[in-house]
Amino acid sequence: MNILNYINGEMKAANNGSVLDNYNPATGNVYGNIANSDASDVADAYEAAALAFPSWSITPAEERFKILNAIAEGIDSLRDTLALAESNDQGKPLWLAKNEMIRAGQNFRFFATAAMQFASESHAMENKAINYTLRTPIGVVGCISPWNLPLYLFTWKIAPALAAGNCVVAKPSEFTPVTAAMLGEICSSAGLPNGVLNIVNGLGGSVGQAIVEHPKIKAISFTGGTVTGKHISSVAGPMFKKVSLELGGKNPNIIFADADMDKAIKTTVNSSFMNQGEICLCGSRVFVERSAYESVKSALVAEVLKMKVGDPLHAETRVGAIVSKPHYEKVLGYIELAKEEGATVLCGGGALHPEGFEGGYYIAPTILEGLPFDARCNMEEIFGPVITITPFDSVEEVLAMANATEYGLAATVWTQHLTRAHQLAAQLQMGIVWINCWLLRDLRTPFGGVKSSGVGREGGLEAMRFFTEVKNVCVAL
Ligand code: NAD
Repeated sequence: MNILNYINGEMKAANNGSVLDNYNPATGNVYGNIANSDASDVADAYEAAALAFPSWSITPAEERFKILNAIAEGIDSLRDTLALAESNDQGKPLWLAKNEMIRAGQNFRFFATAAMQFASESHAMENKAINYTLRTPIGVVGCISPWNLPLYLFTWKIAPALAAGNCVVAKPSEFTPVTAAMLGEICSSAGLPNGVLNIVNGLGGSVGQAIVEHPKIKAISFTGGTVTGKHISSVAGPMFKKVSLELGGKNPNIIFADADMDKAIKTTVNSSFMNQGEICLCGSRVFVERSAYESVKSALVAEVLKMKVGDPLHAETRVGAIVSKPHYEKVLGYIELAKEEGATVLCGGGALHPEGFEGGYYIAPTILEGLPFDARCNMEEIFGPVITITPFDSVEEVLAMANATEYGLAATVWTQHLTRAHQLAAQLQMGIVWINCWLLRDLRTPFGGVKSSGVGREGGLEAMRFFTEVKNVCVAL
């Protein structure tokens, strides 16, 4: 399978003709290649987008609604094909990829309706004046996404950008380009005019960098690692671009002794190991109130030992393959570091080589105990199937440990104590707090992190605001 760029409605090879290997992480085999583009392809994509903008930006909201809805239907109708492609490209279990494809369609459907609902505000000044805000599309915007939830996150950016009337130059991760290319075809079939969406494949340091540096791409919506986000900020800041950054996390999962334990344990297994732990929202630091510590620990270990790890296409697989060899090595490196830091391995603790998939990148779901809260493995994002478990004695203690990292994306709290839950929600330095649930998403809610987890919010009207320029008009009465 050769993945081409989607520019001006056409599939095109990179101008320089070069390609990168594309690996199936389940087997470790190369199964295709992708265009290894450079700044000249980004320039072409920009030109196509700039040409499409005058017409797309004044296309009536109802027409944009219809086209975005048709894209959603296109995704829905190809759900199984897209899911299989995503699983082969990323290593995630097929059943999970199928769920993510539902969300990819929902992203377009949700922002199709946002195009119809988004409205200006007005502020009356007694009898002196009336102000109204005009919101207009920005122009050509850049959307850059990571490999962990490929189509889910790609569409989460592109849909609001298009709904708000912008044209887009987008870049999927070089590790997971396949479903983005399929989306290009879906968009053309759904009647999206040529040039409104352009997808350029290749490496972050060339294609991503060229998008961020392009003087006429006025806004960058980025999801990925904190180090990359910091670099993007340093390039886009002096150019005064609008930037939205959704970055890493090291999320606490706090379990009090009064929690509904069946639910807390079942959900904790998911929030720790879903998608091989490669979700920015995974709860990688589990804190358990001391009186419940031993029982929670043994229940978690028992559940994790039941999880089938291996062939992502097998219906019973819970944990598939790690996305790439470099990432697999990074995660294994953290497990070794944890051992050096004094961790006890309660389960997992290394690579697995399932029969028939010996070349793939598999890591056993790993639970570590006995690490100080400020050990590196408790402070740095591992982004794999590795969690730590730590007891606590008081609300103050767990709050201090939860807030101790540089990250501030999401936290989960398990308790039946209403007051304590709300007090913690207010004091946790996070963009998102889940009480007695995890990853329960309402697409209208603001989504994003504080501290090194990012700048800005996605979701609902926040995304529509990001992708528009605002002007106040003051009319004296
Ligand atoms: P990454 O930062 O390596 O890459 C993300 C994207 O940026 C890729 O498309 C990459 O090619 C591109 N890129 C790399 N260098 C670039 C540069 N110099 N200029 C422009 N673009 C560049 O991240 P990743 O490894 O693909 O994804 C994993 C990270 O993403 C984790 O840290 C995870 O927490 C984070 N993430 C955050 C969220 C969130 O919503 N906060 C969601 C998912 C993933």
